[in-house]
Amino acid sequence: MAKCKHVEVLIVGGGLAGLTAGIHLSQHGFEVLLIEKYAYPHHKVCGEYVSNEVLPYLNGLGVDPIKEGAKNISLFEISNTKGELLSTKLPLGGFGISRYHLDNILYQKLLETAAVEIATVSGVCFLNEIFEVQTQHGNEYTADFVLGAYGKRSNLDIQWKRDFVQKPSQWLGVKAHYDFNMPEDIVALHNFNGGYCGLSQTETGAVNACYLTTYAAFKKHKNIEVFQKEVLCENPHLKHFFNNANLLFDAPLTISQVSFSKKETVMNHVIMLGDTAGLIHPLCGNGMAMAIHSAKLFSEIFITSKKTGQSRQAIE
Ligand SMILES: Cc1cc2nc3c(=O)[nH]c(=O)nc-3n(C[C@H](O)[C@H](O)[C@H](O)COP(=O)(O)OP(=O)(O)OC[C@H]3O[C@@H](n4cnc5c(N)ncnc54)[C@H](O)[C@@H]3O)c2cc1C
Repeated sequence: MAKCKHVEVLIVGGGLAGLTAGIHLSQHGFEVLLIEKYAYPHHKVCGEYVSNEVLPYLNGLGVDPIKEGAKNISLFEISNTKGELLSTKLPLGGFGISRYHLDNILYQKLLETAAVEIATVSGVCFLNEIFEVQTQHGNEYTADFVLGAYGKRSNLDIQWKRDFVQKPSQWLGVKAHYDFNMPEDIVALHNFNGGYCGLSQTETGAVNACYLTTYAAFKKHKNIEVFQKEVLCENPHLKHFFNNANLLFDAPLTISQVSFSKKETVMNHVIMLGDTAGLIHPLCGNGMAMAIHSAKLFSEIFITSKKTGQSRQAIE
């Protein structure tokens, strides 16, 4: 391999897990390069309700989503497919913020202490205690450690033939922002036949509508619009929403092959964080907090291990 830049920690993927780990490690003096596929800011399929459990940690890293306009959410509503509704207070609560904004805030914070390249990582290989990493643009790096924080499913999973990619998944997600009048302190989950749809406000006042469903439920219908009208709108709360809300995106965003299978947490010596290590069902509304926690857990272990001279094997 021709001489290329060497870094201590190279992070593949700049979602919540990768960005948070990058900030934490670089604030502790490690040389970090994060490589993310898409330029910031960008929208992502996500319910955009974040549990307050991560606020003290984010604040400690110098990131304050509430100051950045996130909506405080303290009430929860859930309805069954007929629209029968339960409401309750959320003991811990959370906040509503778009991934467009949240990931960008973390990205700006990371730029203060680390390097970021916008590119797709196309290859990672571990040889003689060093990683060699290539991007699709043809850039090459070497690194002492590589963290895999590239989300639910990526080109690297297919290349590495990870177990979960061998099993097709039924789940698909749809998300868009809407202009709609809804209290800013509520997160609502409305069930429909074959899935559920979450509604909550983001920092702009727009309501994020994000639903998870299956191919089996979706395939009988022509397109998203027809599916929403014929299936989601059987729930009267969703009918009221879709009949009165104005779509703010050109078209809803979609993702498919969302897998909840068990995943390897270390593969080819790459340490996995966030959804790359495992994905909780989004109905729990905790995937983002778990991604951030995984970055915290790893960073703390890594910093202590390096201070006490632990081996790679021990860190893994
Ligand atoms: C329908 C749905 C609704 C959800 N709603 C909620 C919710 O309301 N609350 C909640 O807490 N959680 C929710 N989640 C879960 C949450 O979205 C995820 O757990 C969270 O985004 C995980 O963050 P991450 O950093 O692991 O991955 P991501 O945020 O997906 O980041 C991975 C990044 O890696 C990049 N990448 C991929 N491949 C490469 C490559 N080869 N090279 C470089 N970059 C690459 C991607 O572009 C991406 O930016 C939901 C999930 C779904 C599917």
